Amino acid sequence: LYTEHDLAEGEAISAAPGQGRYLGSVMRKKEGDEILLFNGRDGEWKARVTAIRKDDATFTPEERRRAQTIASGPVLLVAALKREAMEWVVEKVTELGVRAIHPVLTTRAVPDRVNRARLFLIAREAAEQCERLDVPEIAEAVPLYNALGAWDGSPLAVAAERRRAVPLAQLPPGPMPALLIGPEGGFTGPELDALARHPFVAMVSLGPRILRAETAAVSALAVLQATRGD
Ligand code: SAM
Repeated sequence: LYTEHDLAEGEAISAAPGQGRYLGSVMRKKEGDEILLFNGRDGEWKARVTAIRKDDATFTPEERRRAQTIASGPVLLVAALKREAMEWVVEKVTELGVRAIHPVLTTRAVPDRVNRARLFLIAREAAEQCERLDVPEIAEAVPLYNALGAWDGSPLAVAAERRRAVPLAQLPPGPMPALLIGPEGGFTGPELDALARHPFVAMVSLGPRILRAETAAVSALAVLQATRGD
């Protein structure tokens, strides 16, 4: 269970809204039962439910079970997708170990507003479900050209269908690249030309078929995890 509070032995903390009800009604936890807590900073703690009533609950951390770990996966830059597709991507790539998610605005990206708070909740639930101890950052959506302008020069793999591109699994060895996935309508020619001009960019292929953007994000993460992850 995720908490925003610091975790330290014997220091009782209160549940976030909704957690008491979830623990009582869904997980059937009672006073005195054990749960596991994490906050993305202090590792995983065994804690005791010290009070539970309606939607109020208090937990007392007792013992640290696992040290904090940070996912070693890539940073994902993904064109803003329709709300449902974006939420699906956030859930799946969190399970696959993405380090951070940066929505980018491209010429053909859908104009749906990117709801960062909601995406963070989805990432948090996915982290809980897959027993990951950190929650990927969901960055503010920025235009593609701004993201490129501010780029630190580290390797960036751009998923580009229909271009002469190296299969992602065959990128030369090196540090974990960040990954850029385009919108449902694809990148425009000028966007691809601008990307290709940067020395840190490698155009990568995910196979001969045109994948939906969300399929492309998940399959690219799976390839990176299989070839460079832990
Ligand atoms: N509308 C575009 C077209 O028909 O040419 C297709 C865009 S595709 C649905 C969405 C994004 O997924 C692309 O911008 C690209 O980043 C990624 N993608 C899809 N299939 C891919 C492939 N086979 N190799 C590399 N990237 C791919």
